Amino acid sequence: MTDVRVRFPPSPTGYLHIGGARTALYNWLFAKKHNGKLILRIEDTDADRSTQESIDGIIEGLNWLGITWDEGPYFQTEFADEHVACAQKLLDEGKAYKCFCSKEELEEKRELAQAEKKDYQYNGPCRNLSTEEVAEKEAGGLPYVIRFKTPKMDGVVDFDDKVLGNVARTYDDIEDFVIVRSNGKPLYLLCNVVDDIRDRISHVIRGQDHLGNTARQILIYRALGAEVPEFAHMPLTLDLKKAKISKRSHGEIVAVQFYKANGFLPWALCNFLVLLGWSTSDDQEIFSREELIDCFTLERINHSNSIFNYRKDDPKFFTDPKAISINEHYLRTVPIEEIYLLVKSDLQEQGLWSDDYDGDKKEWFLHTIDLIRSRFHTIKDFAVLGRAYFDDDYEFEEKAVRKNILKHEGLKEWFPVLADRFAALPEYNKDTAEEAIRGYATELEIKPGVLINGARTILTGRLAGPGMFDVLEVLGQERVARRLRDVAKLYDV
Ligand code: GLU
Repeated sequence: MTDVRVRFPPSPTGYLHIGGARTALYNWLFAKKHNGKLILRIEDTDADRSTQESIDGIIEGLNWLGITWDEGPYFQTEFADEHVACAQKLLDEGKAYKCFCSKEELEEKRELAQAEKKDYQYNGPCRNLSTEEVAEKEAGGLPYVIRFKTPKMDGVVDFDDKVLGNVARTYDDIEDFVIVRSNGKPLYLLCNVVDDIRDRISHVIRGQDHLGNTARQILIYRALGAEVPEFAHMPLTLDLKKAKISKRSHGEIVAVQFYKANGFLPWALCNFLVLLGWSTSDDQEIFSREELIDCFTLERINHSNSIFNYRKDDPKFFTDPKAISINEHYLRTVPIEEIYLLVKSDLQEQGLWSDDYDGDKKEWFLHTIDLIRSRFHTIKDFAVLGRAYFDDDYEFEEKAVRKNILKHEGLKEWFPVLADRFAALPEYNKDTAEEAIRGYATELEIKPGVLINGARTILTGRLAGPGMFDVLEVLGQERVARRLRDVAKLYDV
């Protein structure tokens, strides 16, 4: 394969959404796999809609996802002169022409065609103006656009799409399209090709929403005497009702930022995104970064659209359940050092952080987050479901209180006694704590489960969690004794 050079060229008109992030990811994977280069190009020619906030958001989102680029960011506006020069070159070589038809004239023709139920296509009255006629109109101050002169010939413009196979469009079907507006600004179709030529792009990997542009862009490559790159058009991502996902209809749920703010691990989101439109023959779901780079191919990108499975009406899931399950997988299995900083920063935000966790209590802290993560879904859960480990002010699950505390009146007396026994232990650890709890249950002639489950609820607020003797050890002698003594408060409500 020739030197692989791919690009991610977002228009900075909104946040980085999961569709854009997936495009970036596929390009990144392809570049990495082939020791190629990924170029980040901000297509900011639409001055009215491009914003600095969006540029910052896109860069922040890519950084967070770990999608690195080798060149750029380049800004399309910096190459405006080159775009204009290329349009001029096409004019000079007779491959484009000035069109003076007014908007009103064209609109009338379009309406006429619609009334006759015909597809409208510019039929080129300006295509064959003589040099004198053009000069005369220009001298008269008539505004004009520049149109590409599509060769009038039989046959098709075609290309072998890496995903879709051969894609063809007849010349007849391609009108003389506008490449420069009447205000002198070149349009996307031209700028994008000029930039791809300058950036020596070998593969254009983008969404199927651009499939309609490709034949016209191929004509521009040819007219500029440039080599045409390979193309790969990826399926779109739709919602369950088959509508294209968008900020307007889906809100923040489709923004990469949403996943960052809601405690996703960046690689978990990448892993989820790659499966939105690509799969291995055995439908493997979990991939390390290296594994994915190794097995990613354009040929295995799906032809059909992928579904973002999000049910607004199901409060149990705040996004696609698969995204959550992939996040759970990583949250529970990656080396603890990989999530430590994320947990730290969230606890800091929630006011639950203590500098000791980076000092004397660091070992305790790492051990604790390792212990409690087993049932968590996102980084956010450490501060919410795991709050009792970092603060005395935590909530009690109603069901847990009902089942594990209120059903057992005796706990009101037993827990203060158990507290004294724990406090009196010369050496307090999970083994001695277990011995104490089991010994006391035998004395009381009750099942140890009554004390163990009750302790879980009073000590952590929860119905379920990690092994209770580990929990007793991690919470520590003083906290355990103090919380057990306070059991009466749960009967008062
Ligand atoms: N700026 C275009 C977009 O964001 C780029 C399309 C392309 O990849 O050619 O859709």
